[in-house]
Amino acid sequence: MFEFEQGPIRPPSEAKSLLIRATRNCPWNRCEFCHTYKGEKFHVRSIDEIKADVQKARDIADEIRQLSWRNGCGGEVNDELIRAIFDSYARYGESYRSVASWLYFGGTQAFIQDANSLQMKTEDLVEVLTFLKERFPQISRITSYARSKTLAAKTLKELRALHKAGLSRIHVGLETGYDPLLKYIRKGVTAREHVDAGRKVVKSGISLCGYVMPGLGGKRWTREHAIETARVLNQINPHYIRLRTLYVRSDMALHQKVQTGEMELLDDDEVVQEIGLFISHLNGIQSYLASDHILNLLEEIEGQFPQDKEKLLATIDRYSALSVEDRLIFKVGRRAGLYRRLNDLQNGEIRFRVEQAIERLKKQGSGDIENTIKSMMANYI
Ligand code: SF4
Repeated sequence: MFEFEQGPIRPPSEAKSLLIRATRNCPWNRCEFCHTYKGEKFHVRSIDEIKADVQKARDIADEIRQLSWRNGCGGEVNDELIRAIFDSYARYGESYRSVASWLYFGGTQAFIQDANSLQMKTEDLVEVLTFLKERFPQISRITSYARSKTLAAKTLKELRALHKAGLSRIHVGLETGYDPLLKYIRKGVTAREHVDAGRKVVKSGISLCGYVMPGLGGKRWTREHAIETARVLNQINPHYIRLRTLYVRSDMALHQKVQTGEMELLDDDEVVQEIGLFISHLNGIQSYLASDHILNLLEEIEGQFPQDKEKLLATIDRYSALSVEDRLIFKVGRRAGLYRRLNDLQNGEIRFRVEQAIERLKKQGSGDIENTIKSMMANYI
């Protein structure tokens, strides 16, 4: 059985991508809101190792095509074939199932793991990208995570070389553009470096997706976090801005600060207000703003700047204008995975189920309902 190595995470928008692990873990590994690679050491895999994984993925893809012909699916990876593969769970390994799903969804995107593979020497990463494109000529989009600090240290020429070799998008966790907060959460980067790195990526022709973390400043810095982050993004004008709301797990360094009361977290309604303030300060950009992370309360805050800005603010106003009861119902329904959009509140059957759940929570005397809602978010990370 062929198996190749895959890392633990990818951005939500890369759900349909082939995952190729070029490095392991994170070279920084100190951000206080991040638990993903805690205790793990950063490691750059050798080019031979990475290429061997790409080759294994190619061999698996070839075998799946043959299986498709044998099963009368005409070489396609269709519903029937995918069912056959996933029904025989024990027979096919994880890599096999990953490649099958990838082909099922088109087989045209790849994501280079882990947290900061741009840390690799540029010529090495170019070699990996070139090999990946050679083995899978149908891939039209290759993306990776990268830190602003690392990108700021690359030259424009290097980034252009990576783009030419096939790197089409970089996902950067900006989190915030407010310097005191960047320091507080130990992001290891400044707002200036975010801007320098972001501008350089955009100039190189690589598409840039910048992640913002609503709630990160807590009650103390909510205003500064919103306004300064918008200011940084206005200078970068990235192709995409993505929201990913803060959730503090007990194994994160930030948890200690929350426990001692040093950091006061925002509740869901306050986070929505903060996002509204953030959006209202985004000006002069042509970015697409998405809220596609399951931790976000309002998934429908999504649209193209500048034309959709008022529509996005109207969604915030619509939520804020709901009665206290309706907001509670929406929050619990969303965290229970029953609601996605505000219009879902009109669904009487689901509403009844959510109302019953809230009654149960109250009877159980679970204390602060906002805390209960927060703990429901733990299911998603
Ligand atoms: S740079 Fe990214 S992966 Fe590394 S610690 Fe910070 S948030 Fe986590």
